[in-house]
Amino acid sequence: LSFKGEIVYDTIEKIDESEDGFKIKTTRSEYAAKSVVLAPGKVPNMLGLENESDYFNKGIHYCTKCDAPFYQGRVTASVGVGNYLLESGLLLSRMASKMYLILRGGKLAGDKDLVAAIENNKNIEIVTQSSVKAISGNSVLQQITIVDSSGAEKVLDVDALFIEMGSKINLDYVKHLVKINTKGEIEIESGGMTSHPAIFAAGDATTIPYKQIIVACGDGSNAGLSAFNYLEKLKGKPGVRADWKKQIGGQVFHY
Ligand SMILES: Cc1cc2nc3c(=O)[nH]c(=O)nc-3n(C[C@H](O)[C@H](O)[C@H](O)COP(=O)(O)OP(=O)(O)OC[C@H]3O[C@@H](n4cnc5c(N)ncnc54)[C@H](O)[C@@H]3O)c2cc1C
Repeated sequence: LSFKGEIVYDTIEKIDESEDGFKIKTTRSEYAAKSVVLAPGKVPNMLGLENESDYFNKGIHYCTKCDAPFYQGRVTASVGVGNYLLESGLLLSRMASKMYLILRGGKLAGDKDLVAAIENNKNIEIVTQSSVKAISGNSVLQQITIVDSSGAEKVLDVDALFIEMGSKINLDYVKHLVKINTKGEIEIESGGMTSHPAIFAAGDATTIPYKQIIVACGDGSNAGLSAFNYLEKLKGKPGVRADWKKQIGGQVFHY
């Protein structure tokens, strides 16, 4: 802000190319830009239970690798899809006293190494052909009700339910300008470069592995520097170097 940056709270509805860059339409206004850095993140899919949001972070969690350590020595359950679910079960089994892996189908499916690791894990109870029908508790989650394919219900006492149903990334407003992979993520290369020379991207909405805060922050800095370089080059200036090196005696130092 001390460098005259401006923060605007608004929602981007459409980005289109214009004669000298981009026209950015938001809910409340319109902006012109020569370059854009995208970092819209992703939103986890909910299970769709009536009172699900009442227990958010009070026993209901959407990121096992982020929140599993809170449940050392406690009873947990996971529900979800594909390898996300398998990974959730394995991570929790290393910390929880017991974990229920709730499957809609009749058997485990997905990465064969993950499946084998789960099958050999005594801490995981696999509950097949079942889904979560309800959750309950007082100020924190205490029970989940599961229902099997015959309609029979069972109540499990748990301290947490991890929901790993994948996530949504909304890129409708820019999908005509950048390449998006089959998982709906913006394809980027080093420096946050997208398939469009003037658009850069960072964070959870991109193809980078390990969707974590510190990774997103670092990549945001990369994408920002790349956008700066792009703008400097438009003005015929050299921009900043991506890598600094100095030779002292016979040795080259990169920093
Ligand atoms: C439940 C949960 C727990 C997590 N816990 C941890 C943790 O403990 N440690 C950790 O390292 N990571 C954790 N993560 C992951 C971490 O939150 C992300 O990796 C990180 O926030 C990604 O940063 P980002 O900038 O890409 O996206 P976000 O932080 O999601 O920010 C994106 C922003 O863009 C805005 N936006 C989206 N579309 C538009 C639009 N069209 N116009 C204007 N604004 C828009 C969104 O509203 C949002 O404010 C967790 C994630 C979840 C879901």
